[in-house]
Amino acid sequence: RFGLKKQPVSAFIALGANLGDAPATLRWALGAIAALTGTRLVRSSSLYRSAPIDSSGPDYINAVAEVATTLHAPALLAALQQIELAAGRERPYRNAPRTLDLDILLYGDASIHSPHLQVPHPRMGERAFVLVPLAEIAPVRVSAAQLAAVQGQAITRLG
Ligand code: AMP
Repeated sequence: RFGLKKQPVSAFIALGANLGDAPATLRWALGAIAALTGTRLVRSSSLYRSAPIDSSGPDYINAVAEVATTLHAPALLAALQQIELAAGRERPYRNAPRTLDLDILLYGDASIHSPHLQVPHPRMGERAFVLVPLAEIAPVRVSAAQLAAVQGQAITRLG
């Protein structure tokens, strides 16, 4: 229950930010994820720009990262929430924005249905800003039908 798993699990994390220097926030967050106990950053997608869904305001910058981690899923969620808080509390760089959203998309092949954590993330299949970067780094995890279902949502890969 506590402590670390013996074998690392492959987990996918969605990153999003839409205030201030959002690309810098995501790069900082990737570094913070890579520094977590028992966690290795396996690969990360390009950065993408997407229009806000269910809200207005500036475009979002999004990415998806794969980690190999010995953290149990609830511990990984808690660690990601600390990184979200740190992005608002600390000033990792000048004029650091305060908004950072980190979601666990997949945790191995686990199905988790607890009040605080649902995995696979229940809305990932509806969101181009998740599916497109996920397909970039893990094409077998995203079907053509899923991508077709979100093709109306504007998303741009950045340089
Ligand atoms: P949000 O404000 O959209 O970032 O949602 C955060 C809330 O979603 C937290 O209270 C989490 O407990 C909950 N949550 C449920 N499933 C997940 C997941 N797969 N990844 C991240 N947060 C989750």
